Order: sequence, then C-alpha cells, then structure tokens
Amino acid sequence: MKDTTPTTFAEIDSAKVKATIEKIDAALKDKPVSKQVKQKLDYAKKKWPEALDRYAVQEAIMGDNRNSYSKTDTDATFMRMKEDHMGNGQLKPAYNMQISTSNQFITNYTIHQNTTDTNTLKEHLNEHKRCYHSMPTVVTADAGYGSEENYAFLEKEQVTAYVKYGQFDREQNETIQQKHPFTADKLFYNEKGDFYVCPMGQRMEKKGNYVRETTTGFKQTITKYQAKDCSRCPLNGVCHKSQGNRVIEVNHNLNRHKREAKENLQSEQGIAHRKQRCHDVEPVFGNIKGNHHFKRFMLKGKEKVTTETGLLCLAQNFRKKNAIEVKKAA
Ligand code: SF4
Repeated sequence: MKDTTPTTFAEIDSAKVKATIEKIDAALKDKPVSKQVKQKLDYAKKKWPEALDRYAVQEAIMGDNRNSYSKTDTDATFMRMKEDHMGNGQLKPAYNMQISTSNQFITNYTIHQNTTDTNTLKEHLNEHKRCYHSMPTVVTADAGYGSEENYAFLEKEQVTAYVKYGQFDREQNETIQQKHPFTADKLFYNEKGDFYVCPMGQRMEKKGNYVRETTTGFKQTITKYQAKDCSRCPLNGVCHKSQGNRVIEVNHNLNRHKREAKENLQSEQGIAHRKQRCHDVEPVFGNIKGNHHFKRFMLKGKEKVTTETGLLCLAQNFRKKNAIEVKKAA
C-alpha cells in the first residue's frame, strides 16, 4: 500500500531521515534504477542518520551561545588569541575570564564560554549581586561592552554607566570625522516630525520599523528613513553608494543610550573613572599574566576552571595587600 503520510522537515532528526530513505527505497523496488542512484541511496542510508545523531550530540554540548568546542575539554570554546611571535593568529580552546577590580583588588570574577565580551556583562554583574546582595553603583568598561542590551540592563538596575560604545573614540577624532561627513549620525533629526534632513536639505521620511533579534535574543527596533529623490543630486555617489534613493536605518533607543553614555564619559567624573580604569584593571591582568606567567589554566571543565580562577584572584589580592603593608612599614 502506498504511504501518503506527509513528512515535515521543519525539525530534522535521524528517525525522519531513516524513514524517508526507506520510503524512497520501497518506491524504487522492482524499478530499473541506475547504479549511481543505488550508490547514493546506500550512502545516505549508511551515513546520514548516523551523522545527524552526531550533530545532535555536538549541538547539545555547544548549547545556544557557542559554535565550537574542544574535544579535549568540551566546556572550552575556540577563541582567537593574541598573535604568536611569527605574527600568526592563534585559535585555541579557551575560556573568557572577566574580572572587576577596585584599587587593583579583584572584587568579582566570572568565567564565560562565549567569545565576545559584550555578552558577558549581565552575567558578570548578576554574580556581583549574588555575592554582595546589590549591584555596583558605578560601572566603568571599555567599548567591548557598549551594546543596547547592556545599556538597557544597566539603566534597569540603576547603575551609573561609564561604558564606551564602538564609535566613541572615533567620534573624538576630528580627522576621521572629516573624512566621513555624510554618515547617518551626522544628519539632522527632527524629533517632533520624526524625519531626517539629508545633506542637500531634503526630508528623509519614515518608511517604517522592523525588529531585529541579536544572538542573545535581545530585540532591537530599527526605523527606516528614505530620501525622496537622489537622481539629480550632485552629491549622489558621495553621500551614499547604493542605487536609488538613500535609505538610512536608525536605532533610536541605542542612540539615546549612546547620548547618555557620551555625556557621562565626558563629564568630570567620567574622565576620572576612565583614567582610573587604565591603572586599575589592566595592571592586575598584567601582573597575573606577565609577572607571574599565568598563561593557561591547569584544570579542565568550567566548574574547575572557575575554582582555579578564584584561587588565582585570591592570590592576587593577598599579594596586593602584602605590597601595601610592606610599603606602609617602610
Ligand atoms: S544623494 Fe540623496 S540623500 Fe544624499 S544629499 Fe543627495 S538627495 Fe540627499
């Protein structure tokens, strides 16, 4: 009897693939089939279900936040290291270690399996809250942590943020700014009328919103604006390179966070916090890695690596305390 059960491949697993191959096999039985087709079917029967089972295991190990893992330590993710002495980029199994410091004492540490610092801030600060029963009042961090999701989190937790965003340093550099005079952030925005004005004074009308989801599932609302007619504009080709009328995409919420961050960073306290960051957290890493030659973890597995990091931080804090006492006694 002919099997007419529809097979849905929205979710593929080895059982479905096996069943489909068997259906094809049955349909081709007693039919003249070429050698190549037979070979391909045999290959699919032998390899595909097994491969899918293997992929399912690998995906379970990686979880939602990773796209690689080490076979010798499945908790470790492949991360780009500093170049070796020959200038080659190094991709090695690693953990992303995050620390907070106060006057060169380590106050919090966390171990992460994802490669980007941006996605570590929330977990790191939640760990601070777990240890001290409150969020820090102030957070100073470099541009690697300046995302809309992190700014929104800091705002919700009422933490004063001195956190740079990606373009902050470029914005302070006039030479770079002069080279790119037509970027969207330099266009005039009429908040009341919700439109932009292009470099030739033409209104760029709102075309609508769409929602973009980041890798962590955070939803960003993006608004599109478009110029009416770029065809006869003398700046066409310089102002934008795309065909047709210029379209810009704006994240108003991120822009609001950036404005606040910029104001904070350029304030008197902001400048002091930024200066403090350079000689607070960086020397701690320098001391651990450079002076004490800690270049790799001795243990495997996230739990053990977290314990090893705790001991490392404890030793660093004892050394620091001892150095202060010695200085006092001298
Ligand atoms: S190319 Fe279009 S958007 Fe750019 S200045 Fe000319 S009219 Fe305005």
